Amino acid sequence: MTSSRTVFRAARAFVDGRFRPAAVVVDDGRIAQVLGIDNAVPGATEVVVPEDAVLLPGLVDSHVHVNEPGRTEWEGFASATRAAAAGGVTTIVDMPLNSIPPTTTAEALRIKRAAAEASARVDVAFWGGAVADNLGRLGPLHDAGVVGFKCFLSPSGVAEFGHLDREQLDAAMHEIAALGSRLIVHAEDPDLLTGEGPLGRGYAGFLASRPPESEASAIDAVIAAARRSGARAHIVHLGDGAALPAIRAAKADGVHLTVETCPHYLTITADEIPDGASEFKCCPPIRERAHQDLLWEGVLEGTIDAIVSDHSPSTADLKHAGDGDFGLAWGGISGLQVGFAAVWTEALARGIRLETLVPLFTTGPAAVAGLTGLGVIETGAPAHLAVFGPEDSYAVHAAELHHRNPISAYDGRELTGRIRRTWLRGRPVFDVDEAASVAAASSAGPRGRLLHAGEAGA
Ligand code: ZN
Repeated sequence: MTSSRTVFRAARAFVDGRFRPAAVVVDDGRIAQVLGIDNAVPGATEVVVPEDAVLLPGLVDSHVHVNEPGRTEWEGFASATRAAAAGGVTTIVDMPLNSIPPTTTAEALRIKRAAAEASARVDVAFWGGAVADNLGRLGPLHDAGVVGFKCFLSPSGVAEFGHLDREQLDAAMHEIAALGSRLIVHAEDPDLLTGEGPLGRGYAGFLASRPPESEASAIDAVIAAARRSGARAHIVHLGDGAALPAIRAAKADGVHLTVETCPHYLTITADEIPDGASEFKCCPPIRERAHQDLLWEGVLEGTIDAIVSDHSPSTADLKHAGDGDFGLAWGGISGLQVGFAAVWTEALARGIRLETLVPLFTTGPAAVAGLTGLGVIETGAPAHLAVFGPEDSYAVHAAELHHRNPISAYDGRELTGRIRRTWLRGRPVFDVDEAASVAAASSAGPRGRLLHAGEAGA
């Protein structure tokens, strides 16, 4: 019998919330021991992390739109999970919309899992959808293993996934509280959004059509419903930094509330976005610097629980619809592969340490999705690991990114920090020096697992 024991030696491994020298022993895909760096491990294959790099737990991204089946030409499991591996992300949680069918029934989840099974290179868990059609009947989807439910309070962008009004939000919260699940909410108030159809190529017009008050109003509704029902609620992709005091107060008051923001809100500001550059369109929109500064404050003082990509690609035709008309173009940014490096680049400029960021990309999003035991280097955890070079610098070229339809808001951006290698359960799934060959080997390479609620995948 051949041993699958490997030891990863690093002068800086992220263990117990800080960087320290360690030898991480991996046996059959699981972390068996975390030892001092010089301990001998007889019979193990040695992986030595270079001095100028750090060993991280595999990142977790609880907000990814894969779109397969049904809109696989936008993004599919093979390309999305390849991009994830290249970004150090070893677990993604797939959103219930943009695929056809949307994940709003147990049968739709079965179809989704069958599509993912064939080609996922990293682990995948699934959100279910809460829409008007399935309210009162969320139980079977919960029992089938979704990690929680997602709803919209404003139009979602696709016809087959409708949004909830305030009464339906309340009903969903009560039902989900009874199931012991969680509800994650796209929080924009449709009454405060203006404009359907063309808005022109100017970014300012688009920004004005989705004001921060629309987020604040919807977030107030989520807080009120969470308070009444006792449900666990989560605000996805916060762009309005001014909403943080209400979120902070609700948390302090014992409301079961968490909140995420995204790399694009932390690294790009409205005034940098050229007219017609619809690769920057997302909803809620990227706002002015004052919002970005408030979001960073929320990161530093712990109100923000997670930083996740909201990776949501489409075809080039849709992304640049109307020659870059911000009303017509698809709203979604593809940040799965470069999000961590982009945020690290901005953190460097702000004098923020890597230790501060890592939990927001690992245990934070894992907790949002209820996936305990993920995103850590500790005994018993799945051996998902990444080597990150915090000083590596390079320019992003959209065409070289692994997701389908290589359009990127980060194209041309100079970044510091790069994922060099990634392992899933101790097996390599990405190596920056062999990116092409590892990608080519994808059909024979290690497979991601499809996780059910609460599973870490060890
Ligand atoms: Zn999303």
